[in-house]
Amino acid sequence: MLKRAIVVVQDHLKAKGHYAGASHGIADAATDAAVALGLGERQADIPAGALGFSQRRRMVMLLQLICRDKGIACDPIDGYWGQITQTAWDSLVFLLDHGRLPEPWRDTDQPAANPQNWPRDTAGQAEMRGFFGQPGQPPIQKVPCPWPLKLAWNPAQRVTHIGCHAKVADSLGRVLTKVHAHYGAAELARLRLDLFGGCFAPRKKRGGSTWSTHAWAAAIDWDPARNQLAWGRDRASLAAPAYDFWWKCWEAEGWVSLGRSRNFDWMHVQAARL
Ligand SMILES: [Zn+2]
Repeated sequence: MLKRAIVVVQDHLKAKGHYAGASHGIADAATDAAVALGLGERQADIPAGALGFSQRRRMVMLLQLICRDKGIACDPIDGYWGQITQTAWDSLVFLLDHGRLPEPWRDTDQPAANPQNWPRDTAGQAEMRGFFGQPGQPPIQKVPCPWPLKLAWNPAQRVTHIGCHAKVADSLGRVLTKVHAHYGAAELARLRLDLFGGCFAPRKKRGGSTWSTHAWAAAIDWDPARNQLAWGRDRASLAAPAYDFWWKCWEAEGWVSLGRSRNFDWMHVQAARL
């Protein structure tokens, strides 16, 4: 865990009267005991049995609660430092440094092809509802992936199928087949395209009140750790030339890469237009 994140946890515990030591950013025994006290009074907000999780996981869980208490979306509270927690942490750092939450990003352009007539994800999201139905309960269809995937935030967990909205399933299947035929499984693993970052997630957009395209299971994230939300092409791994064919396969089906179109959230590709 990041030293600064431990400092934030220690400051929080000090303010709550659970910790008397210095905020030195080291997860020592005194900090661990204080984390247990801090979580002990938040049992309604954490999963059953969470007090028995590993030291690291309990500390991440407390950090997730700190984010949530400041109005930063950070669900589920599970103690795993995945993409959502990373994004929440970035927002928390921004808040601590600037005294306010970061601005949401704005859109620019996107590739022209849209052969499946994906709806536009614009204000009000009426087109999204008209095409995909209500957010949060999409009809899920499982699409087999031709190469082995693992969960990006828990690589021990294998993934064989991607559960997506039934209306995007055929298109997704075509993209995966084309990509696999071009790169092959070994190269896909080398490119870290075996790190699946999630499809269906019933949540709102970061820092906004509208639904994420993930709430319709019409978006997929790839290798989130190396393509973090606020990173541009100078840092995101998926912006490298080796991924041109990858992106062209999605764009030929009308999917939109937020990285290619807006230069942020490079992990994210969606069957919805800007
Ligand atoms: Zn996404």
